[in-house]
Amino acid sequence: MIKNLLNLFFPQVCEACKNILKDNEVLLCVSCRHQLPITNFHFENSETVKKVLYGRVKLVNATALLHFSKKGMVQELLHNLKYRGHEHIGAFFGKWLGAELGSIEAYRQIDCVVPVPLHKSKKRRRGYNQVTKFGQEIAKALNTEFNTTVLKKTKPTKTQVFKGRLMRSNHDGALFKIHDKQSLEGKHILLVDDIITTGATIENCAKELFKIHNIKLSIATIAIAD
Ligand SMILES: [Zn+2]
Repeated sequence: MIKNLLNLFFPQVCEACKNILKDNEVLLCVSCRHQLPITNFHFENSETVKKVLYGRVKLVNATALLHFSKKGMVQELLHNLKYRGHEHIGAFFGKWLGAELGSIEAYRQIDCVVPVPLHKSKKRRRGYNQVTKFGQEIAKALNTEFNTTVLKKTKPTKTQVFKGRLMRSNHDGALFKIHDKQSLEGKHILLVDDIITTGATIENCAKELFKIHNIKLSIATIAIAD
């Protein structure tokens, strides 16, 4: 009853095309949902995500749920997730990918899900880390721990218009820092992020995570830029 009233005044719209959702539709209308560029990487044992990091990071498994293209539907969704406060988009894709990964033996070996962290100043500004809900839902589906304490971001990465030599060299230092190494010794960690493009962020995080003795690393993202 209350839900119906709320819907009357604030109708839920599709996150991609903005059409009003029907009762049985969640987040996306049926039409947009069918048009989502799904990768199926994890079902096909695809090496696509691994290849982005070849020679840089040793990975056990790596997947992304969706293909990202400029001006495409996925760009709109990630933009809403990141900049418009639509955190539930992360939960939606986390539940989706989590259910799929839970059905694959290789991913059932995961011990712990770790999100790519945001610097605390950015998190304060945005109010949330856009990867948190995505990671929490995957951890729930895989029946594992969601760990936000082991990896922290120490320096904010800003798109700087002005980059002097001094500032640039400042950026060469570690962007991420590991804490409480002992707690994850020997574990298989799933590092999650919203999108993988050059793989630089994942590589920086991985460098830190591999300071933990005897870990295995896998990766899952909402999207991959083709
Ligand atoms: Zn739609």
